[in-house]
Amino acid sequence: MDQFVEENLKTIKQEMESACRASGRRIEDVKLLLATKTVPLEKLNRAMQAGETLFGENKAQELRDKFPLMQQHQQVEWHFIGHLQTNKVKDVVKYVTLIHSVDRLKLGLALHQQLTKMNKTMDILVQVNTSYEASKFGVPPEKAQNLIEQLSQFETLNIRGLMTIGKLNATNEETRHCFRLLKNIQAQMEEKKYPGVKLDILSMGMSGDFKAAIEEGATIIRIGTSVFGQRYLPDRYYWNENKRGND
Ligand SMILES: *Cc1c(COP(=O)(O)O)cnc(C)c1O
Repeated sequence: MDQFVEENLKTIKQEMESACRASGRRIEDVKLLLATKTVPLEKLNRAMQAGETLFGENKAQELRDKFPLMQQHQQVEWHFIGHLQTNKVKDVVKYVTLIHSVDRLKLGLALHQQLTKMNKTMDILVQVNTSYEASKFGVPPEKAQNLIEQLSQFETLNIRGLMTIGKLNATNEETRHCFRLLKNIQAQMEEKKYPGVKLDILSMGMSGDFKAAIEEGATIIRIGTSVFGQRYLPDRYYWNENKRGND
């Protein structure tokens, strides 16, 4: 049991490689992001010792708690992958290099205002709800173009790509459909050539579906459970808290 973070990382890497081979992609073109929600620092440290450098957090508070560890490992990069409330923007932009979960204009505006104050820019992804599940955040696919257009007016935001959570507990085909939809939106948006918008990142695929995601074109996969083990909080705690709340 003791070796398991290291062992799990090895297994994931092998599976990433085989998915890349199966789809004629290069392993350098797919990044492994470790999703760290609820994971204790001790385990994160092990992953960092094993050479992992990309981590994703869902909550501002947890990010702040884990930040001291980050400072001991200069090469480590944090992304924000969870639902971002506008009143938490300030806490998050200090720590991360990419926000995966921009899904509404109000959030874009809050980010722009904060970044303007800090005289800073930020890379972002637009989160799309490709499964149309009410429990998930993300802009509906048919509204993605409109949101991207609106966000592209904020000169502090660099729109770098798209993110989605594939349909869970679904058939392989249903999940792949989500990933293909994201890839199609990417292609459509690239054709529009919005100034300052370059959608080269596709963040998709988690423990249960990352192989399919790689085969469908993911450039970042987000893995938690398969590396760190089962979480004690259900994901709905992260994915639909305050869904009907203030923002
Ligand atoms: C928790 C989480 C993941 C990782 O999920 P696992 O199934 O544990 O690999 C990926 N993306 C987001 C947005 C998450 O909240």
